[in-house]
Amino acid sequence: MIRHLVILILCLSLSPQLLVARTFTNIKGQKIEATVQSVEAHQVKLLLDQNGKSYHVPLTSLSPADREYIQAWHETSKKGRDADTQAAAKQNFDAPWPKLVSIDIDIEIEIVEESKESKRFVYHSPNYAFICDVGLSKNVVKKFAVLFEATRDYCRLLPISSMKAHVPGAQFRHKILLFESKSAYVQNGGPPSSAGVFISRGGKGVIMAPLTSLGLKKVGSSYMYDYKGSNETLPHELTHQLTDNAYFQVGARGWFSEGLAEYVASTPYRSGKFMVRSNLSAIKAYATGYGKKGKGGRALGTAFNAPNLKDYMLQPYNQFTANANFNYGLGMLLTYYFFHMEDDRSNITSFLKALKEGKKGEVALQVLLNGRSWDELEKQITKAWRSRGVRITFQ
Ligand SMILES: [Zn+2]
Repeated sequence: MIRHLVILILCLSLSPQLLVARTFTNIKGQKIEATVQSVEAHQVKLLLDQNGKSYHVPLTSLSPADREYIQAWHETSKKGRDADTQAAAKQNFDAPWPKLVSIDIDIEIEIVEESKESKRFVYHSPNYAFICDVGLSKNVVKKFAVLFEATRDYCRLLPISSMKAHVPGAQFRHKILLFESKSAYVQNGGPPSSAGVFISRGGKGVIMAPLTSLGLKKVGSSYMYDYKGSNETLPHELTHQLTDNAYFQVGARGWFSEGLAEYVASTPYRSGKFMVRSNLSAIKAYATGYGKKGKGGRALGTAFNAPNLKDYMLQPYNQFTANANFNYGLGMLLTYYFFHMEDDRSNITSFLKALKEGKKGEVALQVLLNGRSWDELEKQITKAWRSRGVRITFQ
């Protein structure tokens, strides 16, 4: 039901789904499916799946896990609003494209809370709050937090003025909910086939992930960092969390919002460094084939047919995700085209500015076209990618 879509899920999984509700359990053990609408002093307003009606429920009547979830929901929505206001000032559309993003991997970790009773362990890195259901050593948090901090810095340095990536951690820390078991991750709303997910709560979203996705391995009774190989899921979901709400608007939602996340996730990464200047071959390999080392590519092939560009860019999001591999792959190639293959970035910049001004759909896309017909734009995209060895035939 449309009015239930308060929480939207944007994920990398091959069978994406819309998360509309959570199972809440009261202290008597009774369960209900509902969606949080707002939080007040001692009560929460829940929209019940069963009948579509809203109810005020005292927080004390809910299980500790539910209260924790509601508190996290409340904090992200409130701080997100404050952060948006404070960040509205500085835009970076005119900055040069980064060639290399490199952070100091010796990052500071603060232990904020470690409560065995309530199974709540909170660790802060400069820009993230990791909320975990099991205790972790400071050293382990420090190691996996590097990927998060580097992805944030990458999104901050991209000259697309995505202001969520510019808010200092002291003002607002992005929330990451971590689960020791895959089943707890799924119970809390993680899609079973996914390794991590971004849940947008009116645009002030959280990331959820099982510990295994962070490269953690249980040794005895504690966790060790055992990172092997690439991790495309987390940078993809983190990019969603750092992308301004306007860029999820109709006209950009899908081809650009997913294309941008794929662009970031496909950029070669190692130990706190994104090698942006060498991302063309990695992006091409990921879109056309099966990715580096045969992992997780979009498998479009180097010659393929594509739908009419206008229809593709304006298709509903559920249709976009229903054919995920193709649509995500093409979205990344188009995003790359607008970032790097036009004479300058003025068209994509004007388009993003138009979205920020509240334009959407066809009106926003007219700004991207900048006087060209759809046919002309298709021809320019085809020509640009053909010279890099990818043949796209628009219908
Ligand atoms: Zn996504």
